[in-house]
Amino acid sequence: MEELAIFGGIPVREKPIHYGRQCIEQDDIDAVVETLKSDVITCGPKIEELEKKLCEVTGAKYAVAVCNGTAALHLAAIAAGLKEGDEVIVSSITFAASANCVRYCGARPVFADIKPDTYNIDPDSIRRLITPATKAVVAVDFTGQAVELDEICAICKEHNLLLIEDAAHAIGTKYKDKPVGSIADMTCFSFHPVKTVTSGEGGAITTNDEALYRRLVRLRAHGITRSQEEMVHPTDARWYNEQVELGYNYRMTDFQAALLCSQLKKLGKFSARRKEIAEKYNEAFAEMPELMIQREIPESETTRHLYILRLNPEKLTCDRRQFFDALYAENICPQVHYLPVYWHSYYEKLGYQKGICPNAEKFYNEVMSLPLYYMLSDSDVEDVIRAVKKVVAYYKKQS
Ligand SMILES: *Cc1c(COP(=O)(O)O)cnc(C)c1O
Repeated sequence: MEELAIFGGIPVREKPIHYGRQCIEQDDIDAVVETLKSDVITCGPKIEELEKKLCEVTGAKYAVAVCNGTAALHLAAIAAGLKEGDEVIVSSITFAASANCVRYCGARPVFADIKPDTYNIDPDSIRRLITPATKAVVAVDFTGQAVELDEICAICKEHNLLLIEDAAHAIGTKYKDKPVGSIADMTCFSFHPVKTVTSGEGGAITTNDEALYRRLVRLRAHGITRSQEEMVHPTDARWYNEQVELGYNYRMTDFQAALLCSQLKKLGKFSARRKEIAEKYNEAFAEMPELMIQREIPESETTRHLYILRLNPEKLTCDRRQFFDALYAENICPQVHYLPVYWHSYYEKLGYQKGICPNAEKFYNEVMSLPLYYMLSDSDVEDVIRAVKKVVAYYKKQS
């Protein structure tokens, strides 16, 4: 640890910057307060307004707002019909929830490797993992960049698999001019405070399929229906509703929906600033052989959720841990996204072995996410760049 003293001495910044944070402005607060004073604070008109707005933003026919992104994934997994004995191909570099939703249904996640340069799920890896038990694919738009949707949709169609897109990072991203949310069978979003727009906690599923939509709406509220068509014992009695399957209470409140409606008005400016910051980092690091830059595919017009700083181990004398700690000592507080999901001890205990996704494992050992959010000022961004350059200069291999 001693060698790090030079970083701690006069840090680049006095106050720490973290990798992500929300931007809540006065109009957001006003929207929430107004809804709190209204007659209905859950299952009310703001949820309807939000779902309509989400359809506009994503181009999807239907949207279902839920209490968080994990609930969105869970309901999508149930609506996909997943059950014990089924296999689902899942990105290996993602938040655990992308795979947990498969486990909630008793099915088995099968982890696909990433492409070494875009860090998104590799379609060839998906092809190799398909078996007669495969029912669905969960593809994650990692960092906000869309997965290769044309190819993945074609694979799913050929093998009769349902595509669930985990777009927790990707609200606002377009793939070949079509917004994310209108392409996969179901697309799941998260509105956690680190994401591009927030409702505190929140999530949504979008789909173009009416049957899936109706099922998702029912699952969100206990599996209870008021539609006589869906009832086993239909009646027009006013009080009657019927639980026809096992559902959950995954509803979002109206004041959260009000916050998100207000935030969605700013998606354009949030998104533009995130892009701008990512470009500043790219420019600053482009000429540094010690660092590697994420490849962007031309099909994705990306709203960036994460900026991945990737070390080139051949050009540096330190490992990721040392680099991370050095940045931390400079008061730049990165995070690592992500541990390959099957490295979590929960998955290890289920029998997943190390080594199954070599690109993902190499990636994990070389990366950290730099601060990226709307509220970062230009001078914050310059501090981050200065700190990175300072650490690189210290650990760079002399050739
Ligand atoms: C944030 C996130 C989730 C989960 O969303 P919550 O709203 O926190 O439940 C799922 N998948 C990915 C890739 C995420 O980043």
